[in-house]
Order: sequence, then C-alpha cells, then structure tokens
Amino acid sequence: MRPSILFPLFAETRSLPGIGPRLEKLVAKAAGPRLLDLIFHLPSGLIDRSYRPRLIEAEAGRIATVTVNVLDHFPARDRRQPYKVRCSDDSATIELVFFRSDADYLKRVLPVGQKRVISGKIERFRDKLQMAHPDYILVPEETAELPQHEAVYPLTENLPAKVMAKAIRAAVEKVPDMPEWDDPAFIKNHKWAAFGDALRAAHAPSSEKDLQPDAPTRMRLAYDELLANQLALSLIRARMRSQKGRVLRGDGHLQKRAIAALPFSLTEPQKQAIAEIADDMASPHRMLRLLQGDVGAGKTVVAMCALLNAVEAGTQGALMAPTEILARQHMAALENMAKAAGIRMALLTGRERGPQRDEILSALAGGKIDILVGTHALFSEDVAFRDLGLAVVDEQHRFGVHQRMLLQGKGQLPTDVLVMTATPIPRTLALTAYGDMDVSRLTGRPPGRKPVDTRVLNASRLEEVVAHLKTAIAKGARAYWVCPLVEESEKIDLAAAEERAAELRKVFGNKVGLVHGRLKAAERDDAMAKFKTGETSILVATTVIEVGVDVPEATIMVVEHAERFGLAQLHQLRGRVGRGNARSTCLLIYHPPLGENAKARLKTLRETDDGFVIAEEDLRLRGAGELLGVRQSGLPEFRVADLGCHGELLAAAQDDAKLIIARDPELKSARGGALRVLLYLFERDEAVRYLRTG
Ligand code: ADP
Ligand code: MG
Repeated sequence: MRPSILFPLFAETRSLPGIGPRLEKLVAKAAGPRLLDLIFHLPSGLIDRSYRPRLIEAEAGRIATVTVNVLDHFPARDRRQPYKVRCSDDSATIELVFFRSDADYLKRVLPVGQKRVISGKIERFRDKLQMAHPDYILVPEETAELPQHEAVYPLTENLPAKVMAKAIRAAVEKVPDMPEWDDPAFIKNHKWAAFGDALRAAHAPSSEKDLQPDAPTRMRLAYDELLANQLALSLIRARMRSQKGRVLRGDGHLQKRAIAALPFSLTEPQKQAIAEIADDMASPHRMLRLLQGDVGAGKTVVAMCALLNAVEAGTQGALMAPTEILARQHMAALENMAKAAGIRMALLTGRERGPQRDEILSALAGGKIDILVGTHALFSEDVAFRDLGLAVVDEQHRFGVHQRMLLQGKGQLPTDVLVMTATPIPRTLALTAYGDMDVSRLTGRPPGRKPVDTRVLNASRLEEVVAHLKTAIAKGARAYWVCPLVEESEKIDLAAAEERAAELRKVFGNKVGLVHGRLKAAERDDAMAKFKTGETSILVATTVIEVGVDVPEATIMVVEHAERFGLAQLHQLRGRVGRGNARSTCLLIYHPPLGENAKARLKTLRETDDGFVIAEEDLRLRGAGELLGVRQSGLPEFRVADLGCHGELLAAAQDDAKLIIARDPELKSARGGALRVLLYLFERDEAVRYLRTG
C-alpha cells in the first residue's frame, strides 16, 4: 500500500487553487495530472528580475524592473487596437501596452498619478520604450513580493506561464518532510541537501548553473530516481533468484536433429549462447536471461535450441513476438527445424479464432503441442499449457515486456524466461532496463554476410537514385524505400509515403508495393508477402518494416529524410538488407540543411556497422531520453535523471541497491521503510509487491 505520507502528492492538480477543468488539461499535457508530476517538472530556465535600470538606460530585450509614475491612459479605440498607459520616471517615459484587456482592471491597477513598480520585458518601438503586458504591476510597498529570480517551466500551448508556476509552487509546498532514504555518509560526502530541501531548491534557481544536470540539487534528485529504479530491479531480481526454479536438462537429441537440418553451421557465438542458456536452464534457480544481438545476428536459431532443450526436458516452450507479422515469420523460419526434430509447433495470434483457436488450446493443455509461437495472445487468460518450461520473449526493439511477463506465471512451476532484443543497448541503458539480468551476447554476424555499402546523398540527387534503382531492378534486385514517420504528423507522413509510391509507380508500374501502420494487419501482410515472393520489387514503407522483416533477396535500402531518424533506427533499417549473398547498398537521402548532430549521425553510419558502437554513439549524441523514443521503446522513463550525464550516479545507485538487498532484503529496517517511500514516490512500487509474496 502507498505510504500515507505520499497521499497529498498523488492528489490531482485540479485540487490546487486556480486550476479548473480547462487548465487542468493543459497542466496535464505539460507535466502530468497529479501534484507528483508537478513537483518533478523542473524549471528549464529562469528570469532574473534584479535588473533595475533608470528608464533612460534600460536596454531593449531585457527583463527589467522599473519604478514609474502613471501619467495617462489611452483606451483602445476598437478591439484590434491596444490599450496604452504612459508612465515615466525622472529620466524617460515608457508605454505599457495591453491587447484585449479589461479597461476597468487597468484603471484600477494603474491609477493616474500613482507610483508603481513594473516588471517585464523592455522593448523599443520607433525610439519609444514599451512594455507589453508587464509580468508584474505592484505598489511600491509590495516590492518585496517580487521574486528576484523566477523559474521558467516547460509549457504547452495556451498554458500561461504564471498559472504553471503558481501550480508548481503550490504543489511543492505540499511536499512533506520525507524520511531520509539515502545513505547518510553518501549524502554527506556529496554535500547534498535533504530531499525536500533539494526539491525546493531545484525550483528556485538563482543562476543558469542551478539549471544544469550537475547542479547538486538536481544530482540529489536524479540519484534518488536512479536508486528507486535500481532498487526495484534488484528486488525483482532477488525474488527471481530466491524462487526455486526447475531443473530443465535436455539431452540434446532434438537440437542435434534440428541443427543438422540447417543449411549452415552455427557460429561460435551462437554455440556459446546456446550453452549458456542450457546451463542456466539446468540450474535450480529460475532463469531470467537476456539474449542481445544485432539485427541478423542469428538469435532465432538460438531461441529455437533453447525451446527444444525445454521440450527434451519434457516441458513445453513458448515464443512470443511483438507483432503478428513477426510471429508468422518466426513460425515459418522454424518450421524446418521443428519438422526435423519431429516436434509439434503451432501458431496463436489474435487472428486464430473460434474452433481453430479452441483446437489449439485443447492441444496445448493436453500436451500435444510442444512449442507455441505467437503474439501477446499467448498470454490471454484462457491459454493454458500442460507444462510450460521456457518462455522466450522476442522484444525486438521494445523493452519492458519482460517485467509484465514476470508477473504472469503461465507454468505451474516457475517458468524460465529468455528475452531477446535486437537493439544493442548501451551499457548504461541496459542497466536501467534490465538491472543485473544475465546476458548472452551474440557478437558479430553470421558468416557469409557482406558489409552493406552505405552512401549519404543530398535529396537533390533523387533522380540518380531512381535511375540506379531502375538498373538494379531490371537485374532482379529488390528494394525497400522508407519514408519517415514522425509521431506528431502521422497523416502528413502517410501522405508522403503514398505520394512517393505514386511517383515510383510512374516508373516501375505495379512493381511497387506500399505498407504503413494504418493498413489492416491482413493488408499489410499481403503487401509484405508480395514483396517477399518478388511479385513487387520495391516496397515503399513507413517505419513499420523496422520491426524485423526478413527478405534475404532485398539488397537496396533507400531511406528518405534520413536526417530525421535516430542512429539506432537507421542501423536497424540498414540491417534489413545485406541478409543474402548478394552485395547490398544503403542510400541515406537527406534534405539540407543538415545540422551538426545529424551530420555526425550519418557519418557514424557510414563508418561503422557495429551495433554496439552505434548505440553508444547514439546515446552520446542524443541523450537517453530521446534514444529510440523512450515512450515507444518501453525503456524506463526518468523524470529528473539524464543518463547522458548521470551515468556515474547510476553506477553508484546500482552498488547501493545491491548493498541494500544484501543487508535488508525485506526492507524492514528504518532505512528500508524510507526506501519503500522512495519506491512509491518514483512509482517503482511494482517491486514492493515482490517483498510481500516472496
Ligand atoms: P536475428 O533474429 O538475430 O535478427 P535471425 O535469427 O533472424 O537474426 O537470422 C538472420 C538470418 O541469418 C536468417 O536468415 C538465418 O537463417 C540466418 N542465420 C542464422 N544463423 C546463421 C549461421 N550460423 N550461418 C548462416 N546464416 C545464419
Ligand atoms: Mg529475428
């Protein structure tokens, strides 16, 4: 249960004074719906109101605070004209300008003949000083109310800065005195303030330095967040380890037959990964292992061997893919191996319904199916295995599914779990997403793969690209043509892809296919199938093809607006070609002007195809928040921590978490109690549940 000390922070923002239904929506859009979201919505800038010039010296463009006499009012002649109020000090005059403002209000706050303190941005318009909509109009006695420095918050359209600042101030005031969850010696070493003080200070910056990620207040908050993340992962991990797993020891006879049926021999890294997994399955603790390997590294075969190992040990296996296309593809890729091994494999996705589905389910429950391949449908309530020994989750480029997986034991006994990911995750990110999960890495590529010739081209050379395609396709080549999909404007991008397809059809006729996210699954599969069989030669696509499609005959990858893609994304796209024996080309087309960062990204791609190098570079160039688009990827989102700069804190948090688990695994000590509060505060409380059940 959530500690009561945190209740006020989980209140909704509409409970704050001045926040009604309309503003509530805007505040939610900018920060989130609860006070908790507001307190971690840290300032992105600050306004310095300490500049107090005489009017004659006031510099245009600066925020200034001036003391003036109100001279006269010039009400607006019509709605489009501004209302002006002329003021002066003993050196010059200034015009205060108001659009669509209430005249009565202005007469009240700016009475003629009175002194007022005005703060806002000074502008010069035809040699006259002006200030449009001052931020503050105060009587001189109130000057103390004027903040010297004012935090500026990230906003959203139509949300007034003042409203946001006031709401955040009110939320921060509600932050209770928290028990100290950090190690006192560690805090002292860093000279960090207590959580509440650090938070209040983070909202009261007095210089640009206070806004930087390495400001002590922000470091303290970032550390707390990272500790919550690492502690949660360690708790899950400790629980996994403490659970008696089952000993699954295959004798290898099915694997041997299946491997013999492959048209190639396994690489050393594949053999090693298979051995690591088999060892883990044979050990008495429950397996939670990550199989990391670049696109095309050959993970599927490794997964199949692990599944066969489970079958040899007398249990069943499940392979879950993130999409239906992929599930079908896995199924097709593994059919030969299954046949050679003489085991029964079935497919279950959202598309198998009615009697067909019932039949699969009863065969599964009766143990007549050895390996079930599918999508999330595998984990519906009514899917019951006779005895599930191993679940393989192919996350491709998404993460976090494994955590949900852990919560659902499908087997009667704890099921071993193997998670496959095609994104080479930088070490720091792997830590936040997987903690100290065991890792097998498939380095290198399967033999026979040729490097992809990567070229970066200005969009003005599009005609050359089409001419090149023409020659290649006449010789039987197949090409992907990717148009970027930007989240904010899916419609526009879709239009761009459709237009490109139409353009290409003028040259290539019905050899051009089109896939995008708006198509129904069946239509998409159909377009993919036509490309796979060669009925179409060019597949125009939004990034849907990013999620592991295997067409070995495809040798050309054209990426339009390559500058809009992240490094990792481009790397994944390029990985779609170079899968067969023929030489492949990747043409990265950019639309100038090219920013420094985009330039660096394209250069990296031209220079290396090592996914791990690319991932590190991506992290360096973009920061973790942007990497892959955190939201879609399922990587943990951090409110304060910034992995680009807080990598060292992450390592410290990991050590700290390990120590905590070793000393106080149930979080029963005084510090343990405080740490529970921390877990709830950063909403990593899923892990707390493991304490009680474990
Ligand atoms: P991943 O899932 O890691 O992206 P896949 O398992 O789909 O990669 O393998 C990519 C391609 O490489 C497949 O066509 C597969 O048959 C092939 N492949 C896998 N292992 C080997 C190997 N040892 N030698 C040659 N080709 C291989
Ligand atoms: Mg694959």
